[in-house]
Amino acid sequence: MEKFHNVAQPILNGNEKKYVMDCLDSTWISSNGSYIHKFEQEFAQFVQTKHAIACSNGTTALHLALMGHGVTVHDEVIVPSFTFVATANAVAHCGATPVFVDAEPDTWNMNPLLIEEKITPRTKGIIAVHLYGHPADMDPIMEIADKYGLFVIEDAAEATGAEYKGKKVGSIGHSAIFSLFGNKIITTGEGGIVTTNDGEFTQRIRLLKGQGMDPDRRYWHPVIGYNYRMTNIQAAIGCAQLENIQWHIEQRIRIAELYKDQLQSCSALTMPVQKDWAKNVYWLFSVLLNDVTEAQRDEMIERLVRLGIETRPFFHPMHALPPYQHLQPQSEFPVANRISSQGINLPSSGNLTAEEIHFISDSFKKVLSDVLHN
Ligand SMILES: *Cc1c(COP(=O)(O)O)cnc(C)c1O
Repeated sequence: MEKFHNVAQPILNGNEKKYVMDCLDSTWISSNGSYIHKFEQEFAQFVQTKHAIACSNGTTALHLALMGHGVTVHDEVIVPSFTFVATANAVAHCGATPVFVDAEPDTWNMNPLLIEEKITPRTKGIIAVHLYGHPADMDPIMEIADKYGLFVIEDAAEATGAEYKGKKVGSIGHSAIFSLFGNKIITTGEGGIVTTNDGEFTQRIRLLKGQGMDPDRRYWHPVIGYNYRMTNIQAAIGCAQLENIQWHIEQRIRIAELYKDQLQSCSALTMPVQKDWAKNVYWLFSVLLNDVTEAQRDEMIERLVRLGIETRPFFHPMHALPPYQHLQPQSEFPVANRISSQGINLPSSGNLTAEEIHFISDSFKKVLSDVLHN
């Protein structure tokens, strides 16, 4: 049996084991310890922000950021419809309402031209998602936010290391979040981190992530807090991953280039783009199947599994999911609907060899042609 190719798996080829053993040997395994501080400092340095606040995962990072910007019941937050569900759920966790915006046809990110019409007196802010590693078009988003006095959170969960006009994503909005889940660009197993240049915002979310306990008065809790802390073991893995972050990013880009060489000539596919203002880090190499129905795509996914290749359908758009489908008419989202039904993510782990990518690409083209001609 051939090796099974996962869509994405963690690569722990640096000092991960050494630093984790250090935590075990020293017994600093919980949410105090030197790796947490080190990881936060080094992550902030990488993203080029003043502050980074580590937490338990990307979803709690989003929840903290939203609370840090004061989002509460009756507020509205503008988010792309085409994203991973955590973006919308974090808004709902605040008791607020996500207001969805359709996607751009080429980058698949939120279309900035469609934001302004969604603003109401209840709108508090915007979450811009850098989907599959390509940055959202931040300048027009920041301009709209300025004009209406809104905050902007970058959801950079899938885009660690991506750049917008030469700036690292995560340093452009009023705050940003990253996920460190096992399949993301770098990982701590589970984990998340918030970045910002705003010192007061940082204090608010540090308070919230640690049970709301006053840093100057033990067991005095001025607010209802959460336990959203990262452990020292997670941070130890994160420190080791950060030492090799350039390598992790370069692998994603190398893989995308190999796939493009193999698949570009196939007229039945739409390749991922890289705008001239963007550095795409290609979290998951993703293509659109132009002439295939959703059922045919799902059949392709099954056939590829039998060849040892895991692929994934794109996310369902948020406006179509049961908790959110009553909010806005489905017809407002023609682009998200199409992308969602035509999109597929290919194996993108950093350790894939050129031979493996040839094998995957050849199998992919063959299965596509079989499905199209049946
Ligand atoms: C992965 C992801 C998250 C959530 O991160 P977790 O660490 O899994 O909680 C949020 N937004 C996007 C776009 C993601 O891909």
